[in-house]
Amino acid sequence: MVEAPAILLIEDDERGYTRTRALLRESFGDQLKLDWVRVWDETHAAIQEEAHDIYLVDYQLGRRDGVDLISAMSKIRFAAPFIVLTDNDCQEVDAEAMKSGAADYLVKSEITAPLLARAIRYAIERKRVERRLTFLAECDTLTGLANRAVFHSRLADAIAQAHRNDSVMAVLLLDLDQFKDVNDTLGHPVGDLLIQQAAKRLSQCTRASDTVARLGGDEFAVVATNLAQTEDITVLARKISEDLAEPFDLDGNLISTSASIGNTVYPLDNGDPHQILKHADLALYQAKRTSRGSFHYYDAELNAQAQQRKWLENQMRTALESQQFILYYQPKVNIVGGEVVGAEVLLRWRHPECGMVGPAQFIPIAESTGLIVPLGEWVVREASKQCVAWRRQGLPPIPLAINVSAVQFRRSELVESIAEIIEETQIDPTWLELEITESMIMDRVDPMMALLHRLHEIGIRLAIDDFGTGHSSLSYLRRFSVDTLKIDRSFVRNVENDADDATIAKAIISLGKSLNLRVIAEGVETERQLDFLREHGCEEAQGFFFSRPVSADDFAGWYRENEHCIGSANRVAILANEIDVSR
Ligand code: C2E
Ligand code: CA
Ligand code: CA
Repeated sequence: MVEAPAILLIEDDERGYTRTRALLRESFGDQLKLDWVRVWDETHAAIQEEAHDIYLVDYQLGRRDGVDLISAMSKIRFAAPFIVLTDNDCQEVDAEAMKSGAADYLVKSEITAPLLARAIRYAIERKRVERRLTFLAECDTLTGLANRAVFHSRLADAIAQAHRNDSVMAVLLLDLDQFKDVNDTLGHPVGDLLIQQAAKRLSQCTRASDTVARLGGDEFAVVATNLAQTEDITVLARKISEDLAEPFDLDGNLISTSASIGNTVYPLDNGDPHQILKHADLALYQAKRTSRGSFHYYDAELNAQAQQRKWLENQMRTALESQQFILYYQPKVNIVGGEVVGAEVLLRWRHPECGMVGPAQFIPIAESTGLIVPLGEWVVREASKQCVAWRRQGLPPIPLAINVSAVQFRRSELVESIAEIIEETQIDPTWLELEITESMIMDRVDPMMALLHRLHEIGIRLAIDDFGTGHSSLSYLRRFSVDTLKIDRSFVRNVENDADDATIAKAIISLGKSLNLRVIAEGVETERQLDFLREHGCEEAQGFFFSRPVSADDFAGWYRENEHCIGSANRVAILANEIDVSR
């Protein structure tokens, strides 16, 4: 048998009470649980107790009656539904009652025991369904935390409130650093357990007035209002970070994880909810980049950078088709014999407003948007055409070294696309060299080995750029089809005054020799650096000392002017110093 509901009757007239009790008795018998209050003040207190399943409210209650009573009722937050009992049938009152949230409206003279019992049961059941629907609409079902939609509305409320009261409010975004690993290795059910337990700890760290939400996956958010001072958020962030660092027991698996946290604090950070959230997100991104388990404040400078980046990103979308990219060439010189042995191809973006933009600024963006793939292809094609064109103009073959990014290498079509360009431009593949970095190889040793081997088979040469700066094992050098090592600029810069850098430079030179690789020093700016390199057996160099990177036309001009003196390294160097080739 279904348990009888706990009923609160709000009625000032004793006869009304007796009559209603009699009707209820008919339906619920001894099970009946009925409380009765007669005045408004008591009513309020009784409703606050939340001890009843339903309220039956008389339409006339002392001084309060009719619309007045109903509107007073509608201002209270009800845990249970209420039914209005009235003496006479009136459509207006009916409508008013419904608007105020009444579950039903019954005319006393028409009430029978079954009618009343049914109205009560329906009202309770409807409320239950309503609650469930609200829960589903507002809560994340896995954790019971607020969902994304509720989070957004609470955030907007919190900002408005902080603005009104001059108070401090903060948003914290966090995600679990090892969630993906747990999911991948132990399966989704265990991943879900981790999310649930993390949610529980998160709720325990926060106050009841804070909103804790799950935004999706392993991403959580906290809106903390009414902070005494901005530093409080640091305390909260630290507490959360420590609590989440404690191991989790997931079905017998002891798992340690950490949370990266991004914070932003109103009013230090001011803006609409959308902006504030974006700022917190930016801080989270920064936290994740710094180190696992760290937290990071949003700061305006970071934002300015991000905006600049966004702007460039947009500008770059059309830059390729509107031919804003151009290639510069920097000669590579044999410092023993003095001849030009090739050139490095360096990309430039000639922006209509910003002027010349350097690759350090736009390559990372192109990599993250994927534009690097068509852009990189364009570089290879353009450089190949140039190489062939110079040859047609009567210049000797000038091998070109092209920088390629890790993103390009991750695409399996790289080899095919280069092979196509070779076919199309009729360039001799041995005049092409690709510059890659150590980290590109070390990240994915096996697929890279295969890829480099295929490139080598086509006839393309390979150089390791910025050599000495990566954490790499030297053993791979033997296994890869590499032809050249480029000593990083940072070592060359200090060869004369830093013993360590000098040692590293020397070591790279002798390593290259022992493996039968060509060694080239980049970033040579002074004669003394050049002397050092030559003295220690380095045969090739590149740098401002010889020439800055210049346009194709300038490069050809420079080459022609220096043709007659090629053969003597010193003369090339001296000439380069005399003529300004740096434009
Ligand atoms: P990187 O491969 O290390 O290129 C050498 C950089 O050193 C170039 O900067 C060059 O202008 C500069 N440099 C040359 N000689 C000297 C010198 O004597 N002193 C000093 N201080 N610097 C010198 P740039 O052109 O700004 O290029 C920066 C980086 O952008 C390159 O570093 C390379 O990693 C990347 N990059 C350039 N072009 C491309 C490209 O077409 N594709 C890809 N994926 N990356 C490129
Ligand atoms: Ca390079
Ligand atoms: Ca380099």
